[in-house]
Amino acid sequence: MQNLSLHTSLEYIKGIGPERAKLLRSVLGVTTLEDLLHLYPLRYEDRTRVYRISELSDQSGDVQIEGKILDLKELSSPGGRRLRARFEESGNSLELVWFSYPKWLVGQIPIGKTVRIFGKVSSFQSSLSMAHPEIELPTTDTKEKGLLPVYPSSEKLTKRGITQKLMRTVLKNILSSSALPLEENLPHYLLEKTQMLSRVEAYRQVHFPTSALALEKANHRLKFEESFFFQLGYLLKKNHQHQYSKGHPMKRVGEYFHTFYSKHLPFPLTSAQKKVLKEIQKDMKKPVQMNRLLQGDVGSGKTIVALLSMLLAMDNGFQCCLMAPTEILAQQHYKGISTLLEPMGIRVEILTGSIKTRQRREVLQGLENGDISVLIGTHALLEDPVVFQNLGLAIIDEQHRFGVAQRARLYKKNTTAPHILIMTATPIPRTLAMSFYSDLDVSVIDELPVGRKAIITAHRREKDRLSVYKFCREQLEQGRQVYFVYPLIEESQMLDYKNLQEGYQQVESFFKSYRAVMLHGKMPSEDKQEAMKVFSQGKAQIMVSTTVIEVGVNVPNASVMVIESAERFGLSQLHQLRGRVGRGSSQSYCILMSKDKLSSDSRTRLRTMVDTTDGFKISEVDMQLRGPGDIMGTQQSGLLDFKKLDLLSDSELIATTKQLAQYLLTLDPTLTDPRHLALRNYYVKSYRGKNKWMKIS
Ligand code: ADP
Ligand code: MG
Repeated sequence: MQNLSLHTSLEYIKGIGPERAKLLRSVLGVTTLEDLLHLYPLRYEDRTRVYRISELSDQSGDVQIEGKILDLKELSSPGGRRLRARFEESGNSLELVWFSYPKWLVGQIPIGKTVRIFGKVSSFQSSLSMAHPEIELPTTDTKEKGLLPVYPSSEKLTKRGITQKLMRTVLKNILSSSALPLEENLPHYLLEKTQMLSRVEAYRQVHFPTSALALEKANHRLKFEESFFFQLGYLLKKNHQHQYSKGHPMKRVGEYFHTFYSKHLPFPLTSAQKKVLKEIQKDMKKPVQMNRLLQGDVGSGKTIVALLSMLLAMDNGFQCCLMAPTEILAQQHYKGISTLLEPMGIRVEILTGSIKTRQRREVLQGLENGDISVLIGTHALLEDPVVFQNLGLAIIDEQHRFGVAQRARLYKKNTTAPHILIMTATPIPRTLAMSFYSDLDVSVIDELPVGRKAIITAHRREKDRLSVYKFCREQLEQGRQVYFVYPLIEESQMLDYKNLQEGYQQVESFFKSYRAVMLHGKMPSEDKQEAMKVFSQGKAQIMVSTTVIEVGVNVPNASVMVIESAERFGLSQLHQLRGRVGRGSSQSYCILMSKDKLSSDSRTRLRTMVDTTDGFKISEVDMQLRGPGDIMGTQQSGLLDFKKLDLLSDSELIATTKQLAQYLLTLDPTLTDPRHLALRNYYVKSYRGKNKWMKIS
């Protein structure tokens, strides 16, 4: 066997060559030996057992039988040529068929000899058959045994000679070579203690398992490795950020907090709100920077928790800021928070991209001289000219729109980094939150304010439009307000705007006696604010909009959300949108309008929405449909690109490896122990380029 390294290009690998290497690259994206080793089988064919025909049914799947092929016939039918034969074993028989086949095949089929055939059993009118069986003479030594890998493939590959057989031969060759360039990357003592397979053995077994148990062990080892190095990376990152960890101790609970709590609190807090407030307070007291993620489903009341935390910071002489992902949301927070705080003599200001130069100058001045205590804004407040006198707490609302880099810019707004509180309603599956945000502490508001009624959700189609409109009218007659939301996708923008306009006109002409306003991202900022204002004051009863209202908008009197072309939205987006209703005490409704024919994913999404309002359940379905990378945004998707690990079903393993990585780094924080040399080398090689922050020097 030639000298191999993981970077060896496929064309140099025995059995492949330049032509096939090119094909493999273009069809499967496989370029190097390493890629090939990571081309894990999709499934396995079980060659460990030889079946009897009498045991078979259409549920048997892929099986192997030994017997004779008889009565081979070529038939021509209107659908094309067909080849048919009878396969006989112990007096029982099933039918073999070939639909499209090369001419030469006919002469190759061994008639009347004892052979083994392999394929999937199906049944038609209660008689069994097998299409395109693999045939082997049982005497040859090439006879396949055990669990045989089935690799990703395509017709193009098969036609050009890259068959399962070829792939198996190539991989078998590589894996049985003594020059296999796979070094162990886990410490010896760990393997011994956990009884895990060695790395080489895991790769051998995952491609050519000798038994189902061995396959399970191989999968376990590979998952372990993926999860372990991922966790290790996060912990190293956390250590790397150590320089930020000094924080402002805020020990006082003073007049601002007490006055507000006793005199201005608009409602009693839920016990979940009290619980997370305590967690935050405890963090802020310490001389260590807080980095806390506050998760709470839409409508769970995160804003008031943010506000109370800000009062704590102000009691200790610090300024605060609250950053929102959209201008509309920033405006809304500004309105709500300034209404509550200005009566207490606290100056609250807003800073967004559309604030005029003069006002902007005043705001910047007020921040620098300390007149302004609370700044609300969009990402505009991250910009360099925004200088605080003494920023102590920065709150980020709806974190899924902000990246890690933006968080780091907030750290720099004071010589000692401010405490950071990140709030999100984007339900993140627990396991994902645990692994992805392992540098954050997590608080959860797991209870809605009392008196909320669960939103009733229904799925309707175009033919039901009239009855949907009539239903909306009934709600309007009861004094409620209604949203109509249209999708807006970058790629089909023109068409989407047209749909929105038409929808608006349709709504206006049907609901003549009510006022409808339109809202979309391309409108001038003043028009947007005006539209939001008249709707939230109840002067307009209907809002027709794109998803600009997705995040955080709060109009408790709105009781119906009609989502147009709902099949075009993702699950978390639907959930966010639905959260715009059900914020008051009246019964609320969400109506998902869709076209008639739906893909199976769309159907699952809509059904999930109808079946549950639990954000965590929804996020789990979402993750199953889209994969975790997509959920966290493309920016981070590469990080979560696991080949074997499943973030949902492997949560236990993830927890174990996290603990283990933690333990290992406590013993050896810089990975200098000689026993960790292999681990360190592997880590540096595999992860350095990918994640700059995962530095170990
Ligand atoms: P979200 O967590 O989605 O940001 P908000 O903070 O906007 O939720 O709160 C949603 C609505 O619930 C607001 O109208 C708010 O005033 C109200 N609310 C929050 N907490 C309570 C509570 N403890 N009791 C009653 N209403 C509450
Ligand atoms: Mg909110």
